[in-house]
Amino acid sequence: ESTINKIAAGEVIERPASVVKELIENSVDAHASEVRVEIGGYGTKSILVVDNGVGMSHTDASLAFKKHATSKINTIEDLDRILTMGFRGEALASIASVAKVELVTRQEDSIGGTKVVVDGSGIRNISSAGTAVGTSILVNDLFYSTPARKKYLKSARTELSHIIDVVSRNSLAHSDVSFTLVIDGKVSLRSPSSAKMLDSIVHLYGADVARSLVPLEYESDLLTISGYISKPELTRSGKDLQVFFINGRSIFSNQISNAVRLGYYTLLPKGRYPAAFLNFIIDPVNVDVNVHPAKREVRLSHEKEIEAMVISAVEDALGRGSL
Ligand code: ADP
Ligand code: MG
Repeated sequence: ESTINKIAAGEVIERPASVVKELIENSVDAHASEVRVEIGGYGTKSILVVDNGVGMSHTDASLAFKKHATSKINTIEDLDRILTMGFRGEALASIASVAKVELVTRQEDSIGGTKVVVDGSGIRNISSAGTAVGTSILVNDLFYSTPARKKYLKSARTELSHIIDVVSRNSLAHSDVSFTLVIDGKVSLRSPSSAKMLDSIVHLYGADVARSLVPLEYESDLLTISGYISKPELTRSGKDLQVFFINGRSIFSNQISNAVRLGYYTLLPKGRYPAAFLNFIIDPVNVDVNVHPAKREVRLSHEKEIEAMVISAVEDALGRGSL
């Protein structure tokens, strides 16, 4: 069975924020230290992502939009050690199938760059182009060919809040990368580069949230956890203040969310959630990132042990370990 068939394929691009997520993950994979995102309309008009990463060669650029073109995995064994954000080689192909895309890229050691124009009916043009080292991808008229999909989008406000959420989560996950988000010409978010996680939390969620947090550090032979959780006073009716990362990937996990909650025992009112910003480092062998098309959810091995570790990490952080 081919590697590709073992990878659960699926719909990757649901909304403008999905495009932003895939493009900035590619920039992070390309070792960019600066990523600039510019949104026109609410992403349906234009999404531009510019990075100063390693760029692509002329050949790679002309292949990047082919389905299952990935430079990141070669064998089925690689699937067990995924550390890059991307690996399916699906994102650019999916985006180009529902939008009009222009890619401009250059590697450091090449004199000229490459420009690729592509849309739902395939590659339109490949040419040479002068440009800075790195990659810029412009996505115009998202869902122009799939009006039904476009109708499913929520209000501009909702779509923009998804975009802001994606950029915020990524800037927390990659504190060594400076992200700038510009919406209709106005800077909406600028993450300081090489900021500490707490500085980024202040920046993104405000000083009041940051003040209610206590640090959490935990280490075992299975994993390390570092980050912040809130004192029991700060609770939310939803999970909007829960941000989890596994090996640098922002994920949603009911498993982790429940374990965190259990660590508070009876300290939380019913139906309320604490804030939690937690970074997990786990041997990739124990993390299956292949369960959700957008790689948003993961499945962990050693579920029970990990749950117990999260609970005791939370107890320690709240100073309840010795109670
Ligand atoms: P994946 O990230 O799963 O490999 P994508 O469709 O997102 O697949 O990207 C296809 C390929 O294009 C990547 O493997 C990478 O080689 C290249 N690529 C995409 N974006 C960038 C970027 N910003 N900088 C450098 N290379 C990129
Ligand atoms: Mg990718």
